[in-house]
Amino acid sequence: MKIGVMTSGGDSPGMNPAIRAIVRRALVRRVEVFGIENGYEGLVSGAIRPLGWHDVGGIVSKGGTFLGTARSDRFRTYEGRREAVRNLASKGIEALVIVGGDGSLMGAHVLANEWPEHLKALGKEISTEISQLKVVGLPGSIDNDLFGTDMSIGADTALNHIVRALDDLSSTAASHQRTFVVETMGRHCGYLALMSGLAGGASWVLIPEDELDVRWHRKMIEALENARSAGRPHQMVVVAEGARHADGLPIQSKEICDIIHEKLGLDVRLTVLGHVQRGGSPTAFDRVLATRLGTASVDLLVENSEECTCHMIGLRENREVLTPLDEVVTKSRAVGEEIENGNYTRALELRGESFRKAFELVKMLTRITPAKECTDEGAVLVLTGGADAPGMNTALSVVGRCLLNQGIRVLGSLNTFLGLLQNNLVGLDWHEMVGWMNRPGSEVGTARVTIKDGDLSRIADTLRKNNISGIIAIGGWGVYHTLWRMIEQRDKYPEFKIPIVLVPASIDNNLPMSDFSIGADTALNVIIESIDKIRNTASANRRAFIVEVMGRNCGFLALLSAMASGAERAYLPENGISLKELVTDVELIKTSFDCGKKMMIFVRNEAASRHYTTDFIRRLFEAEGRGTFSVRTAILGHVQRGGAPTAFDRILACRLGAQAAFSIIDFLGRGSDDAIVLGLKGRGVVVNHLDEAMKEMDIDLGRPKNEWFLKLCDIADSLALPFAGCGLPEEQL
Ligand code: ADP
Repeated sequence: MKIGVMTSGGDSPGMNPAIRAIVRRALVRRVEVFGIENGYEGLVSGAIRPLGWHDVGGIVSKGGTFLGTARSDRFRTYEGRREAVRNLASKGIEALVIVGGDGSLMGAHVLANEWPEHLKALGKEISTEISQLKVVGLPGSIDNDLFGTDMSIGADTALNHIVRALDDLSSTAASHQRTFVVETMGRHCGYLALMSGLAGGASWVLIPEDELDVRWHRKMIEALENARSAGRPHQMVVVAEGARHADGLPIQSKEICDIIHEKLGLDVRLTVLGHVQRGGSPTAFDRVLATRLGTASVDLLVENSEECTCHMIGLRENREVLTPLDEVVTKSRAVGEEIENGNYTRALELRGESFRKAFELVKMLTRITPAKECTDEGAVLVLTGGADAPGMNTALSVVGRCLLNQGIRVLGSLNTFLGLLQNNLVGLDWHEMVGWMNRPGSEVGTARVTIKDGDLSRIADTLRKNNISGIIAIGGWGVYHTLWRMIEQRDKYPEFKIPIVLVPASIDNNLPMSDFSIGADTALNVIIESIDKIRNTASANRRAFIVEVMGRNCGFLALLSAMASGAERAYLPENGISLKELVTDVELIKTSFDCGKKMMIFVRNEAASRHYTTDFIRRLFEAEGRGTFSVRTAILGHVQRGGAPTAFDRILACRLGAQAAFSIIDFLGRGSDDAIVLGLKGRGVVVNHLDEAMKEMDIDLGRPKNEWFLKLCDIADSLALPFAGCGLPEEQL
């Protein structure tokens, strides 16, 4: 089988990892693969070349697309497409994998439809048995405007660029008491503006899907005034480039500045982010997404080689899902058409539930202000811990403000359970919490404390003395386990008969009933940035690196970082490490270096093996190398817990934080003492009973019995090891 791979339309970060995955998976599955340069231009002009294993080495971390991309007018013509068919058929290419936006996917659909008639017209000129071209599309668009996938390749990177820019602007905004209007990309899709507004704590967000009334600016001014009087030190308005007035005319960002200046007399500056949003190294999320979809596209073609396909592979609810290309294009464009026709309600409906909920959340967070007075009916206690996870402050800020808005007092337990043991609780204040949205760590502190049965009476005393009527805990496995033990002792301590809500926050991502916990995405990005830097060390020649990452007994960080950074192997606690495997790896290193490879990366989870430690592996590799290569270790340690939370972690923290507050308000209203665990499954927030969640856990190992990400092991392995048993012919390496 021969397949072609191309990137088309606007470039998006993550196209390179997608090409790498497609090429390598194809070679592993004995499929010849050709790269088509500059999108449809290359297809028309015949710029098509075979790609081997090493052609796609070292590209995972690079932005853009090494194959080039373009918009092609020639391909829009019937004659142009005939040339494309001639070029593909003469090389015997029977399937195309194309990464691009709706225009590119439309082009592929048209080409597949016309294939038989072009072939017929070309007649004897081309001898081919390929009666039908197969096409698989991958969603590549920073706008995240494609139907059939929850996220498109590039959107997460763009979002993080915007959120970082908002962070940078907010510090200068606070210093100068300035207001910033920030314009993001998105002509027909408000995704970037909406999500960055949520993650960046914007005071107002304007998106194309929103039906504005004629006096929309009054509401905006009112919100800015409210936010200012409630103590917000700076103001940010995020506007998508496609936002429009009630009459359908575009809103100019400059106009917003003028309105704010005129009505509030504020110093307002405009920042149009432009193409920086497209650039740069892809985030971990985009690399993993691109790798998963790229691999799935080849598997689809190989496993259904007899069947005709014309589909896009997207990721929905964390699973690879096929949608016919024509449906993707029609439904993706429908939103833009509804906006053009002024049917905003319909446009918003078509964006789906998760988008609508995020919009509601943004609206709620931009509008809430503290209630005038708090009730005397007890306070809600919030705590964070055991270890720090980036995004805890975001969750705290949302939880705290949602509760204060309803007149419920909020107390923070300093340093997780220590505050409860020492009766050291602090009142959380609205003004402080406003600034916590993007702050790393936790402002109420974290500590890993082992609670003995004898300590429970002190905890009960503190709860009683402070009239605590509910607990929201934002934390990791230690916190889950301690609260579970407290609940088991409810008969003995009636103080524990209060509602409890658990919010998963741990970089280890080892918590039940949630695909992701707050902090894991940030840690993953820190790891891949570190590995990228290690790779860039110019002096490295014939050097193997063993990078040790956190995760405790859960291999999420090790596996996903290995996959996203193009590491050779991940050593996971789930699989352990065997001597046999290490011997194979030594042979792999020797062969690879002999074949010209310069550097190899092995990612080891900190608890992958009690015996074969990082240092042991280093010494073993070095001894067996007998001086032919060097081995270094990099134990990344606590940098993985630090840094400003990524967009994904902040959005997750906002969603879970708001749900935690709503749940506890509901329980308090009903006098319920339920204990629940929140999580993210697929695209949605899920609520489960703590008892049910505990059944999912391997209590001794502190990780879920079934971990969804282990299914990705096969992908990670197959893309990184060219020499160990793949037996590819020389010319394909
Ligand atoms: P994107 O893929 O990012 O949406 P474009 O809309 O510019 O980018 O599409 C990229 C290319 O796909 C176009 O330059 C053109 O060559 C091809 N294309 C788009 N729409 C069609 C169509 N209806 N028929 C044929 N080719 C198309």
